Amino acid sequence: MTIFLSSPDMSAAERAAVIDAFDSGWIAPLGPAVDAFEQAMADRLGRRFAVALSSGTAALHLGLLAWGIGPGDVVPTSTMTFAATANAITYTGATPYFIDADPCTGQMDPDLLEDVMAELQREGRSVPAIVPVDLLGNCVDYTRISQIAAKYGARVLADSAESLGASHAGVPAGKHGDAAILSFNGNKVMTTSGGGMYLTDDEEAAGRVRHLATQAREPVAHYEHREIGYNYRLSNLLAGVGIAQLSRLDGMLERRRARREAYAGLVADVPGVEVFQRQGDVDDNCWLTAVVVDPQLAGFSAADLATVLVAAGIESRPLWKPMHLQPVFAGAPALANGVSEMLFRTGITLPSGSVLTEAECAVVDAALGEFFSAHLRGAEAGELGIEPAAISLV
Ligand SMILES: *Cc1c(COP(=O)(O)O)cnc(C)c1O
Repeated sequence: MTIFLSSPDMSAAERAAVIDAFDSGWIAPLGPAVDAFEQAMADRLGRRFAVALSSGTAALHLGLLAWGIGPGDVVPTSTMTFAATANAITYTGATPYFIDADPCTGQMDPDLLEDVMAELQREGRSVPAIVPVDLLGNCVDYTRISQIAAKYGARVLADSAESLGASHAGVPAGKHGDAAILSFNGNKVMTTSGGGMYLTDDEEAAGRVRHLATQAREPVAHYEHREIGYNYRLSNLLAGVGIAQLSRLDGMLERRRARREAYAGLVADVPGVEVFQRQGDVDDNCWLTAVVVDPQLAGFSAADLATVLVAAGIESRPLWKPMHLQPVFAGAPALANGVSEMLFRTGITLPSGSVLTEAECAVVDAALGEFFSAHLRGAEAGELGIEPAAISLV
């Protein structure tokens, strides 16, 4: 038995939604549940338009295409992200430009973005859009990033795949940027088993995304096509699951927050171990709680911690491996300063799902608690060969 990081949280409501859609006969891709799901999400986030799609990756891809982004364009994005962000930029023929992170939040560093924008302008490059990524359910600094984008005439496509339920400056994730995308993949805060959404207040862009997602079929009775399209719409069956999940979202986020609080309590007295992004907690959806381990202070590494957790049947993962270190993007331009690389080495995500049972939480907490206290005792006794002076016991 393994205790997973973030498993789908399904209830009788999702089951009923699938059966309703099934019984209504609306199996074939589109239908009333898709419309209702789009409306519910647009209402919740205060966006004029929402387009339900087959994945967050599809939403990124079409969001860029809707703005005419393609070969010759450069698109600055966060290096600390899941490959989907960079892949979608690459699908369009544009070049991703990877930007390193703030050490406290892991989010795109606005100062580095500013440097990159100035440099690309000097070189006369075309930079029509920036794709900042909300890391682990915590928003990027949209205030500064939007100012920089406006200064250089670029639009912002916010990758909010991980951050539904989070906010920045009182504005919810999904409402930032000229457009934003969400993911409903199985490991996110809510899921449709697979799915995504494109959100914007721009009617033309929303129409373009909708059109491109349905094979760019012209609105005539026969099949008429003037451009290349995609088959990227969300199925009506899955949209029903999405509606039910959205109605339960706040309760699910509360459970994730409680998990984070428990971890914060466990590491409070452990030198060199901190809950990652903790300063942003009030605005955070607590999608995945990670801790960062300073091996000098802690006397153990994130990898040591992972080994102990695996042995106890507990899933954990390093933070995203930065894109500029990925073999597939070795040739892509990047402004890297070592911060994301350091976070990748020292960060570890812990089971954070809203579906974790009390018993599972107790197993995880006990494993962590025992490991930490054994280390503290060992360090006090000097058994680990660590200079006591290097350890600041609270
Ligand atoms: C999950 C994720 C995506 C992709 O979403 P899918 O629905 O899996 O295609 C994109 N960006 C980030 C940052 C993600 O975490």
